[in-house]
Amino acid sequence: MAKYIFVIGGVMSGVGKGITTASLGKILQARGYGVTALKIDPYINVDAGTMNPTEHGEVFVTVDGDETDQDIGNYERFLNQDITRVNYMTTGRVYQEVITRERNLVYGGKCVEVVPHVPEEIIRRINLAVRKTKADIAIIEIGGTVGEYQNILFLEAARMLHFRAPKDVLFVLVSYLPIPAIIGEMKTKPTQYASRTLNSAGIQPDFIICRSSQSLDKPRKDKLAVFCNVTKDAVISVPDAPSIYEVPLILEKEHLSKKVLERLDLKVHKRNLVQWESMVRRLKKVSQEVRIGIVGKYFHTGDFVLADAYISVIEAVKHAAAHLGKKPVIDWLDAALYEQEDAYLADLAKYDGVIVPGGFGSRGVEGKIKAIRYLRERQIPYLGICYGMQLAVIEFARNVCKLDGASSTEINPETEHPVIHIMDDQVEKMKQKSYGATMRLGNYEAVLTKGSKARLCYGKSHIVERHRHRYELNNAYRDIIERNGMRISGISPDKRLVEVVELLDHPYFMGTQFHPEFTSRPLYPNPLFVGFLKAGGKKRDA
Ligand code: GLN
Repeated sequence: MAKYIFVIGGVMSGVGKGITTASLGKILQARGYGVTALKIDPYINVDAGTMNPTEHGEVFVTVDGDETDQDIGNYERFLNQDITRVNYMTTGRVYQEVITRERNLVYGGKCVEVVPHVPEEIIRRINLAVRKTKADIAIIEIGGTVGEYQNILFLEAARMLHFRAPKDVLFVLVSYLPIPAIIGEMKTKPTQYASRTLNSAGIQPDFIICRSSQSLDKPRKDKLAVFCNVTKDAVISVPDAPSIYEVPLILEKEHLSKKVLERLDLKVHKRNLVQWESMVRRLKKVSQEVRIGIVGKYFHTGDFVLADAYISVIEAVKHAAAHLGKKPVIDWLDAALYEQEDAYLADLAKYDGVIVPGGFGSRGVEGKIKAIRYLRERQIPYLGICYGMQLAVIEFARNVCKLDGASSTEINPETEHPVIHIMDDQVEKMKQKSYGATMRLGNYEAVLTKGSKARLCYGKSHIVERHRHRYELNNAYRDIIERNGMRISGISPDKRLVEVVELLDHPYFMGTQFHPEFTSRPLYPNPLFVGFLKAGGKKRDA
């Protein structure tokens, strides 16, 4: 029988529920248990693939091609584990299944009702993931914040599961304690309300993770214990940390793994976090900077700038930097700037490397192409991911191969030189407006050319990376591109699809059709990011 830990958010979103879930997983794994982590997104969307990244953050692609929430990426990075589609659930998925079953008479003529049939389906899905992963402990993060309509049925499922097996189910409330500048004191009231709201859903939290900019002092811990009906040692203080990778260690300072295992009636084995601890120590020690620019367009929400849309790219930079003993300084560069004014391009010279990550549509594209040209001509290390690779090919075609007006049919369907065009099997899907989960998704193999920089980085000829695209390099242009000095250094095993391009006369100019950021882990950085930052270090030294 597996154990279940539900992680539920209080007060507001964005306080680190995902990192808490991942970190809790890490410390239980370090005690010798098989751990898996599930994410519940309360949206009606069937998956994250159709959500705008500015609104919802990055779409994280799993090995089996599911388009999921960015938290799945955190779980993978902390647990060092590939997570598959069974671990991701949305309201859309749950309802879709219930309705299909109803149509198939699986409910045998019964009235199908929101309760209990929907929570039962949620529980069925959780158990499916537990069986598939053979986990001893499943940690289930319920998206949103307690008190919303959206996640109420998921809380109901958690309550039902607990009712059936009280000893096997545990609840963690991740809450936020503000310290309003004008008051100058940490306030516990919002957390008290959150805990009470959870109570009204029939759930009593076992632990309260208290996120704040500072540590909780004793009076406040005592107060929360009394008002939220938990023991004092169940109030866990998690102040802001310089790195998310420190959070497991912060939780362990409060002996959380031991407390959780005892509550679940599981043996407390010796803890092994040695590798993780030394990685965190290394992170703290580094001093020499490496400056990386990311040219994107999914940054702005109102007056605020967020980097959530590129979270895996950012983490991959951090992993590679830590591996090389460097301190990454990352700037967000808005592609629109380069469209307004060429003068902004000169700013790019201060970077040790620049990344153009994945993207869709035509907004910002010409700005990105200008930036890529600048990086190519000034010999500044460049990593182009997916769209970043396609745009590098377009820039090269226009300015080096002299194919005037070269473009992607995604940007200009009428272009005279469609150097990037839609993949054959995508044409029909687009005609039918079948957008959901229909891209080329997930793991595919690529074969790397002998003597190429890509092969040097990976140290092997065959690699597997994750994909998410509808367009590809048009094979009719392979020759002219190669003749002019852009090497095709990675292709699919059937030779039909270009996976990697690089420039011969450049310190590091790499474009990949796949997304190397999704496989980067703190202890195992992706080789292309390591190569990219190494080249950046050389530029700086020079
Ligand atoms: N829009 C491009 C395509 O669909 C690139 C996608 C991406 O960058 N993930 O092929």
